[in-house]
Amino acid sequence: MSRPTAYPIRLVMFRPICLYCGKPDTYTAVCDYQLGILACEEHKAWADNDSKAWLDRNRRVRAKDYIREPLFQETHILCIDVKVKRTGGTIDVEGWRIEDGENAYIQHIENIWAIPVRNNKIDRFKYIPLEDLKMSLPEDKHPLVDALDARLETGLYSAERLEYEKLYNASHEAPKEDPNIRVVVHKEYGVGRIFDPPEEYYTSAAFSKEMEDIALAKKFGLSASKLNK
Ligand SMILES: [Zn+2]
Repeated sequence: MSRPTAYPIRLVMFRPICLYCGKPDTYTAVCDYQLGILACEEHKAWADNDSKAWLDRNRRVRAKDYIREPLFQETHILCIDVKVKRTGGTIDVEGWRIEDGENAYIQHIENIWAIPVRNNKIDRFKYIPLEDLKMSLPEDKHPLVDALDARLETGLYSAERLEYEKLYNASHEAPKEDPNIRVVVHKEYGVGRIFDPPEEYYTSAAFSKEMEDIALAKKFGLSASKLNK
C-alpha cells in the first residue's frame, strides 16, 4: 500500500487543514511544543504513525507511550517523589515527580536517556538521567530501568519509523524539513525547537501579514496560535 507521508509543521499561524488531503483538520498528532501533524478524521492514523516516525528519528518518546512500559506499570514510581541529584552532588528527596502530561517526553540528551521531572513546590522543571530513577526504587526493580533503557535504544517507535521510510522512499518526495526551525539544546531543559527565519523574513510581506494577524487576533481576544488558546 502506498500513501503520502507528512512532516510536523509549526503550529503558529498555520492553515488548519489535513496535511494529507487538504480537508479541515480535526486532529493534531503533537510532536513538540507548537509542532505537530494535522489530520482530518480519516487520516488520523497516518498522522499518528508519521508523528511517531518523527519522534523516533529525533529520539524522543511521548509520556502517554512511556507510561505504558513495565517500569511505570509494575512500580509506583509515577506516584512517589523521586530523588533528584543537584548540580553540587547533594540529593533532593522531596517534591520532584515524574512528568506524565501532554507535553512531556523522554529524550536522548548528551548520550543518555533523560526523563522530565517537575517540582511544583519550587516551580521548577528539569531532565534527569533515567538511570537516576534507580535511587528511588528497591534493588529488585532496578532491572526495569535497564530494560526501558534498552527498549529506548532499540526505539519504541522503530516499527512506525520503518513504515514511514518505506512509504517516503516509495513516493520520492522532496524533504519537507522546515529549514527555519532550529534545534537548541539546554543542559537542564532538554531539546527545544525555535523558529529562526533568515534576516530578510522580518522585512517580507509574510512577516507584515503575520504581525497584522496577531494584532487582529488580539483585538478580538483570540490567540494567534491554535495550541495557545
Ligand atoms: Zn485528510
